[in-house]
Amino acid sequence: MSRKRKELFSHKLISVEEIVDGYYTLKFNRKFDFIPGQVVAIALNHKDDPRLYSIASGNQKDYMRILFDVNPDGLLTPQLKNLKPGDEILVSEPFGKFTFSGTNEWWIATGTGIAPFISMVESGGKLPQKLLHGSRTVDQFLFQNLFSAHLKENYLRFCTRESGGKGIIQGRLTNWLKSEKELPKQIKYYLCGNPEMVVEVRDIILGKGVDFENIIAEIYF
Ligand SMILES: Cc1cc2nc3c(=O)[nH]c(=O)nc-3n(C[C@H](O)[C@H](O)[C@H](O)COP(=O)(O)OP(=O)(O)OC[C@H]3O[C@@H](n4cnc5c(N)ncnc54)[C@H](O)[C@@H]3O)c2cc1C
Repeated sequence: MSRKRKELFSHKLISVEEIVDGYYTLKFNRKFDFIPGQVVAIALNHKDDPRLYSIASGNQKDYMRILFDVNPDGLLTPQLKNLKPGDEILVSEPFGKFTFSGTNEWWIATGTGIAPFISMVESGGKLPQKLLHGSRTVDQFLFQNLFSAHLKENYLRFCTRESGGKGIIQGRLTNWLKSEKELPKQIKYYLCGNPEMVVEVRDIILGKGVDFENIIAEIYF
């Protein structure tokens, strides 16, 4: 986020839904156009520092959705989950450069880092050659029905804490990447999620000969 504080605009909340234990979607009326992959800054009042969230909805819909998990010690997310339809929230105009190339891509995410890819699929953008999603438990593959329907066998789910059902690979996605003999070189890699994952994946794929400029990262710090 640029150092200049973003102007925040009042939006009306449509819904807050716990889709999986501890993971929520929040929808509000959409006031601005955006490009899939962009983020918004959100706060509940003008005195608090806003937090950033990837937009997790199609850019033709009349609402905007974000996807978040609750940080119990955090300032914003414990409050967000208790909001009610009709409440006002403050949201910036969309911004950010984690936007898609329109060429061949792999998408790699952990946890709520899947959010910008939801937006891309729901907006009808070009699908990736592969989507790799890592999570701790099988039910935390957020929006898996959407991705399964669109990507079929190119949607790879990696589960670290449970042995999964059909199509779920047990273990870390980073181990799978390390074990791949070769990775495609002439494509773009989009990484989104926590800093540890993004840095580790970046190092693995650089080590396999992918050019630095073909790696685009969004870090949820
Ligand atoms: C570009 C970007 C996109 C993002 N997109 C998403 C998204 O789509 N979904 C999502 O869930 N998250 C996303 N995030 C993360 C999000 O912005 C918030 O950081 C997250 O939701 C936690 O917010 P919070 O206010 O609840 O917690 P915070 O108040 O930020 O606290 C987070 C942690 O830091 C600790 N902490 C806070 N202040 C201090 C302090 N002064 N000293 C020490 N420790 C402290 C807290 O105890 C807590 O454990 C994104 C971040 C970035 C940068």
